[in-house]
Amino acid sequence: IDFGYQQVPRNEKKKRVAGVFDSVASKYDFMNDMMSMGIHRLWKKFTIELSGARPGQRILDIAGGTGDLTMQFSRLVGRQGEVILADINASMLKVGRDRLLDRGYTGNIRFVQANAEMLPFPDHYFDVITIAFGLRNVTDKDKALRDMTRILKPGGRLLVLEFSKPTNPVMSKVYDAYSFTALPMMGKLFAGDSESYRYLAESIRMHPDQETLKGMMEAAGLDEVEYHNMTSGVVALHRGIKH
Ligand code: SAM
Repeated sequence: IDFGYQQVPRNEKKKRVAGVFDSVASKYDFMNDMMSMGIHRLWKKFTIELSGARPGQRILDIAGGTGDLTMQFSRLVGRQGEVILADINASMLKVGRDRLLDRGYTGNIRFVQANAEMLPFPDHYFDVITIAFGLRNVTDKDKALRDMTRILKPGGRLLVLEFSKPTNPVMSKVYDAYSFTALPMMGKLFAGDSESYRYLAESIRMHPDQETLKGMMEAAGLDEVEYHNMTSGVVALHRGIKH
């Protein structure tokens, strides 16, 4: 199947998101480790575990960026399986593709530039779809969730890993202080770019909380939706199954 490339419609949010990821692409992995103190690796490890991915399966890592999840899926599904790393941003895709090729990941991975709201894939195509730290950047989240559900096979799983609402008030205060002061400072110091990291903090605050996102996934047509809070709800992993 030739999935082709998507024409990406422009509006203000899209332009802003594109600017942020063009700007951070080359420093993305370093900054991720730095800002989460390496904990994002554990959040992603849990995502892989809950995906139930098996050899021979077809997996989509949407908003896949530099490919942390794609790499692990590629090992899991083996030569008979297929992993597609899709991202709207050409700079992130390029960094991701170079990184994966440098590490010897070839054969069962494809790279597609696509918008999560208009996924260029057939109905009932994937066993597992993941979107990690990507949904909050998407303009029409309901539309994106519906489209992801459309391309899942019956029995397929959608996993959404995203910043969420801290479950205890102390953590909430610490986290607010961290994201609105420390994040932009680190952005300026290590990436010469405080604006992108201020956007990161704002987008986290605006993102739907655990219960709201669960309701959105159900409205998109997913069943058995559940979520797991991690790091006191700073991050939540939602999973839904298509029946
Ligand atoms: N999933 C990777 C990870 O966890 O390390 C990358 C996450 S990065 C914070 C967010 C990614 O979402 C960026 O690569 C960005 O280009 C992508 N993105 C933003 N809006 C998108 C959209 N509408 N459709 C697809 N990808 C999008």
